[in-house]
Amino acid sequence: MTCTEVRRRLPAPEAPHVAQVEAHLQTCAPCRSEAESLREVDRRLVRLGQARAHIAQTQRPLLDEALAAQLGPSPSRLRQIVSSPVLWALLLITLSLAALWLRLRHR
Ligand SMILES: [Zn+2]
Repeated sequence: MTCTEVRRRLPAPEAPHVAQVEAHLQTCAPCRSEAESLREVDRRLVRLGQARAHIAQTQRPLLDEALAAQLGPSPSRLRQIVSSPVLWALLLITLSLAALWLRLRHR
């Protein structure tokens, strides 16, 4: 495998190529260095993502507060449940079944 072919598969070669890439990296210092650089970029991207997630988490209450200030308080849980279309569909089905049962019972 040539350097170009190896570098195209870095930093994480697909399963069928792992052995060939690893063999090349054993003997080629520039590709080994490239592989390590790419792994470092991956590690930094992961850490950046974690840091951003942490910041987002800590900022969440402030965002909720700002949203509530702009849009008014969020609807109560009860109001959310009452406005649920699923609840109304279940209620309608239950009433229909009850009506059907009553009708069949009084025949
Ligand atoms: Zn190489």
